[in-house]
Amino acid sequence: MRYISTRGQAPVLPFAEAMMTGLARDGGLYVPETIPQMDAAEIAALEGQSYEEAAFRVMQPFVAESFSENELRQAIRRAYQGFGHAARAPLVQLAPGHHLLELFHGPTLAFKDFAMQLIGQLFQVALAREGRRVTIVGATSGDTGSAAIEAFRGLPNVDVFILYPHGRVSEVQRRQMTTPDDANVHALAISGTFDDAQARLKDLFNDHDFRDGVGLAGVNSINWARVLAQVVYYFTSAVSLGAPHRPVSFTVPTGNFGDIFAGTIARAMGLPVDRLVIATNQNDILDRVMRSGTYEVGRVEPSVSPSMDIQVSSNFERALFYALAGDGAAVSQLMQELKGGSFTVPQGALQHLREIYDSGRVSEAETLSTIARVRAETGEVVCPHTAVGIKVADDHRKPGVPMITLATAHPAKFPDAVEQAIGIRPPLPPHMARLFDLPERVTRVENDNEALKSLILERRMA
Ligand SMILES: *Cc1c(COP(=O)(O)O)cnc(C)c1O
Repeated sequence: MRYISTRGQAPVLPFAEAMMTGLARDGGLYVPETIPQMDAAEIAALEGQSYEEAAFRVMQPFVAESFSENELRQAIRRAYQGFGHAARAPLVQLAPGHHLLELFHGPTLAFKDFAMQLIGQLFQVALAREGRRVTIVGATSGDTGSAAIEAFRGLPNVDVFILYPHGRVSEVQRRQMTTPDDANVHALAISGTFDDAQARLKDLFNDHDFRDGVGLAGVNSINWARVLAQVVYYFTSAVSLGAPHRPVSFTVPTGNFGDIFAGTIARAMGLPVDRLVIATNQNDILDRVMRSGTYEVGRVEPSVSPSMDIQVSSNFERALFYALAGDGAAVSQLMQELKGGSFTVPQGALQHLREIYDSGRVSEAETLSTIARVRAETGEVVCPHTAVGIKVADDHRKPGVPMITLATAHPAKFPDAVEQAIGIRPPLPPHMARLFDLPERVTRVENDNEALKSLILERRMA
């Protein structure tokens, strides 16, 4: 399997290279040249398998040229052994026909661990094999950063720099990034919003001298390997509710469109998915584009679900690429227009997107009232992102089609919002009990490319 860029102008790469590169050199995102298919019998055979076995079967065709079967199996085993639940991604029933897929049993309590733990393992194999070093730079709205640090801390061939928007992540998120004391971990608090952090990251990748000089590697949600790791739980959850014999729908609390795009790939591989529902908070660029066809960047309004406080939703480019029938030049042109603040999705492509996705937007008040309602109706305490998903899912449920809402983080990661909603601060799991006692280490950096570059050059262990 080879990987091509959504903008059609970057070198075609094997899986391991696409994984270590992150962003393609033409500014695009890597996608597989073809999508491997799983037939009904293969999907049905996932029933009753361990999460690890399902992960192996779903991912193997995508990575076969870069990793042996044994390397992949070992990486998967190590990636998920630290999870706090034997099922890895258990389903909990909320109401008849409505299920929560709990994706927060990993070490940093958000779904990002599913992908990050795995690519940490795969990076190690690939770097050791080639005797190579890389400098990982990531931008985070909160959860990616902690997941990346947890996955790469202490690794011999890697420096990891994480940019997060100063003052705009929750205290738990910040402490998860600033308390690891490994010498190869660098938490950077940048002035501005997540979109600023993401823009600086893109600038670093587009600076080819710098990129080659430090061996820049990206692990943001644009990294294809992350999308791939997330495809797995769409299969395992759908199969436990009767797929492939009946279709299911998913509602996905969405920011950068990585998680829901993984669902898109599962569907394209043959999983019978009725609807993929995009759930956004008040930062609703995706809901607006689905309704109006215009992708128009607004201002980021901080919310109680900060991991979705995004206006430029990077992985949406992948959905556009497929909606535009793989026309890289057309994708490039839209992305060029976006520099002016907006573009309009061509009618045919919009039609294609609407065949796959529904969407909904949830206000701050609705997020909090949903946390309270779910608690009253089921006893479950959910995080604010998950609450956004549940509210939108309830608006889109259909009789006879099970709805699976992705529970993207543990409520203890967002105690202030949960307390506001139900008056209870959910406790951290025991393995994180010391988080508030450990010293923090963080560097403030201006929203400026040159400042950032010199900081990285100075700090990395080379
Ligand atoms: C990252 C994140 C999201 C958004 O996921 P995307 O893949 O960026 O759409 C939603 N909820 C939580 C808790 C997250 O950490």
